[in-house]
Amino acid sequence: MRREALSAWPGWPARWDMWAGAKPRWIAYALGCELVAVAATVTALVSGFGGPVRPVWFAVLVALGVAQAEMSRRIERLRRWMSGQTHINVTSVWYLAGVVLLPPAWVALLAVVLYTHLWVRVWRQVRTRPAHRFVASTAWAMLSCFAASSVLAVSGLHGTPLQSARGLFALCLAAAVFELVNMGLVAAGIYLYTSQRSAADLIGTWEDNAFELATLCLGGLAALALAEQPVLVVFVVAPLLLLHRYLLLKQQLQVAAVTDEKTGLLNTAGWHESAVREHTRAQRRGPAGGGFAVLMIDLDHFKRINDTYGHLTGDDVLAAVAVAISGSVRQGDTVGRFGGEEFVVLLPGIGRADVLGIAERVRAAVGELNVVISTGGGTVRVSGLSVSIGVARHPDAGPTLDDVLRSADAALYRAKDAGRNRVAV
Ligand code: GH3
Ligand code: MG
Ligand code: MG
Repeated sequence: MRREALSAWPGWPARWDMWAGAKPRWIAYALGCELVAVAATVTALVSGFGGPVRPVWFAVLVALGVAQAEMSRRIERLRRWMSGQTHINVTSVWYLAGVVLLPPAWVALLAVVLYTHLWVRVWRQVRTRPAHRFVASTAWAMLSCFAASSVLAVSGLHGTPLQSARGLFALCLAAAVFELVNMGLVAAGIYLYTSQRSAADLIGTWEDNAFELATLCLGGLAALALAEQPVLVVFVVAPLLLLHRYLLLKQQLQVAAVTDEKTGLLNTAGWHESAVREHTRAQRRGPAGGGFAVLMIDLDHFKRINDTYGHLTGDDVLAAVAVAISGSVRQGDTVGRFGGEEFVVLLPGIGRADVLGIAERVRAAVGELNVVISTGGGTVRVSGLSVSIGVARHPDAGPTLDDVLRSADAALYRAKDAGRNRVAV
């Protein structure tokens, strides 16, 4: 499906920029999932598939889902800010309870209500998440709920008392179907959106899945509580909030481990990790795939800045330089600080001809910097900065990442020796 052809169609959503950067195959997949989710839900609603609904269950689950989301709104917003991809959704607790207590179409509706609430209260404010990804996530949740509930309805297990062995089996079956369908739909979505192939990227790490299992366990307990002694469900909410909080802490630790505190860029370890991943990708693509380049950037005579204005001002200058460098490369490029006043940029999928242009752009951006810093004794203006840049490209500089880094480092020294404020290859 061609994006141009789609966008020419008058019925196409007007806010086309919302889809900017999304691959046509992803758009086709997302729209397909949304269409199937809506069609299945409407058909099941009209035909009464899975038996009559007990509206009180629906209302209770909506209330619990909304209440829990409200209580952990701040946590969820921070989580969404920190990572573009999250495999774990704590609201699955209420979906599993819904799968057991409601007919298929109504569980799908529960997903719509809880996702809409989450959208209004959390995701809308997170600009890094385009709306179409949110809508697709909603469709995946609807389909997972629908599939799990349908399996119970078709096998005649729906409505089995949960305290019997048969009921326990129904609960486990529902959880397994929910998880597998969800995992498959999300993995396909991530693959189509980003072309990532590693298992951790597509289905999450072991730890992600252990967390998901813990969430589903709480979902089973919530279902049991609601069916037997509804007030007991409050015992599920506290551990759920705690799990959610732990999830945020884990993410914060992961981010801190790869972030340079002074500039917010990647630190050496974080940059290296990204570079290894890009190197693997480049090896897989082969020589025709476009290679990648590394810019090694060192500020010229930075010691003088420190000596003139002091280290604290020096740190502010470093932060401004980091912004200037990040601002003159593409969004997908990886910028890091290798300690000191040395920065490094990885430019994936770049041809030999374009590298020098980008390096010159970085050099010019730093040269134009006019940093205004307020200190205890008034404002300080720092300008006239310059950088020397060493450039190397894979595979030209050698097959390994080390070859490329060493080559960029050698080029940087040549740029320094040749008088600074220049780019050397
Ligand atoms: P050149 O690279 O042009 O040869 O000269 P330079 O003065 O920049 O020399 P060099 O790269 O060898 O020195 C780096 C200086 O950067 C030494 C240190 O004072 C300063 N520096 C390193 N890390 C930091 C930091 O985190 N904050 C501040 N303020 N200064 C730093
Ligand atoms: Mg220097
Ligand atoms: Mg240096």
